[in-house]
Amino acid sequence: MNQTTIKKAFRISGHGLHTGRMVTVHVQPAPVNSGIMFRRTDRLFVITQPATADRVGETSRGTTLKTGLQSVATIEHLMSALHGMQIDNVLIELDGGEVPIIDGSARPWLEQLQRVGIEEQEQPRRVMKISEPIHFEHPSTGSVFDVEPSDKFSVDCIIDFNDSVIGRQEAVMNDFSEYAAEIAPCRTFVFLHEIEPLLHLNLIKGGSLDNALVFVSKDLSPRQLRRLGKIFHKDVSSFRVHDGLLNTTDRYFPNEPARHKLLDFVGDIRMVGFPPIGHFKIFKPGHRANTAFAKYLMEYNMNIK
Ligand SMILES: [Zn+2]
Repeated sequence: MNQTTIKKAFRISGHGLHTGRMVTVHVQPAPVNSGIMFRRTDRLFVITQPATADRVGETSRGTTLKTGLQSVATIEHLMSALHGMQIDNVLIELDGGEVPIIDGSARPWLEQLQRVGIEEQEQPRRVMKISEPIHFEHPSTGSVFDVEPSDKFSVDCIIDFNDSVIGRQEAVMNDFSEYAAEIAPCRTFVFLHEIEPLLHLNLIKGGSLDNALVFVSKDLSPRQLRRLGKIFHKDVSSFRVHDGLLNTTDRYFPNEPARHKLLDFVGDIRMVGFPPIGHFKIFKPGHRANTAFAKYLMEYNMNIK
């Protein structure tokens, strides 16, 4: 299998989840062996940052790439779509510091990649082949990762929330043929109690229900519902809690949260610098643990072929 890039460049504009600022992302073809690179064009001093785990900054609510003083936040869903579509080389330019959240999934990126098409290049693909079983526990998060040698990339993901509306769920991706339909559309999620303090401080802008599933694990009074409906600029009369969700949408899959965590992992693990080949069993993944694990694999004496 040869390396790949995209046939044509494309742009997506949207708001960052955390900054709220409008950013335009320009995804462009790149030559062989360049990998996935990010570059901010809104800075006087323009540097190109390879999306690798030794350059990870803040990970509390997404994966941030950081080189010196320049950072690009929330790269994980775009990284996931690139990895899911098995694209080796692209240059991503942004005129701001955060990749737009759009609908909270990888689907908008995937659709653009499918639309412009994939170009095969003239050198064989380089991969990180896992040649022996590896076990990694991340001490402060309780996340556990196991990899076994395999002839392809596959993921088995378990999440376990001490919460009745999500609880323990499993999601599986046997190979990349399942990525576009089964994983990419799955949206990010939060619990209402996590964002309530931010709502009070006015740090979450309206429309946030369009880019995340908001789970509610307690009963809300009609008055509380009305108040939240107003904050989120929703039609208060149809605003509801259904299937544990504060939303006017339903889950795409009963285990959509586990599938989204798998989606995030597909993006974060690509930060080993090459497509990894192995069967990954992951328990309670999160950006902090995922990127620490990716860094561990980068430093492991691994075969790059
Ligand atoms: Zn995510």
